[in-house]
Amino acid sequence: MRKTHGILIHMKKLLCIFAHPDDESFGPGGTLALWAKQGVDIYLLCATKGELGNNGTGRKTEEIREEELHAAAKILGIGKVEFLGYFDGKICNHEVVRLQKELMKQINKIKPDALMTFDLNGASGHIDHVSVASATTYAFHKTSSPKELYYFTYLKSYTDQVADYFIHFPEGKKSEAVDEIVNIEDVWEKKLAAMHAHQSQIQDVKQILKILNNLPKEECFLVRRK
Ligand SMILES: [Zn+2]
Repeated sequence: MRKTHGILIHMKKLLCIFAHPDDESFGPGGTLALWAKQGVDIYLLCATKGELGNNGTGRKTEEIREEELHAAAKILGIGKVEFLGYFDGKICNHEVVRLQKELMKQINKIKPDALMTFDLNGASGHIDHVSVASATTYAFHKTSSPKELYYFTYLKSYTDQVADYFIHFPEGKKSEAVDEIVNIEDVWEKKLAAMHAHQSQIQDVKQILKILNNLPKEECFLVRRK
């Protein structure tokens, strides 16, 4: 395990692949802000528009969440966001195979040095996260440009504090089991702003911050290299 402030001069282009608008901010938002500040070109592919998320207005949830993701991406310094057109909660069976092919196509087009997705347990355990992590892993091994794969994961100190959730939340890792811990103190305000850009998910933002506010300002990754 190594602790860094995100000095990764070898990385020029990072492609993040997540499932829902908010995954990028609620998960590795601090790291993305830090690396963007250091000149890494960051792309984000978001599999769904989070159609099943809360809304509370008369507007279509997917429209609101699309706008929210673009706002959050701007705050974090993510240069390009693209939606892949899958439906929230439905990335399973043959959809995963379709996603693998789509990701390979995107990787061959964008040619990133590194990929980022969720831990293979889905980090928060959501089935869309598990599917996206699995398809990203497949695409990582079947393409040549990305040499590193970052899996965003939680520490046990976080997951021990997660209250009842609508899905099973897997137990986080012990710090000695993760490969990289990124110190995000310098960009904490940016992470907060990006999280709050997802206003339709404000209840989740509050729940997450209740825990994050009392923990070290760090984000954790498992890293696989070719
Ligand atoms: Zn999600």
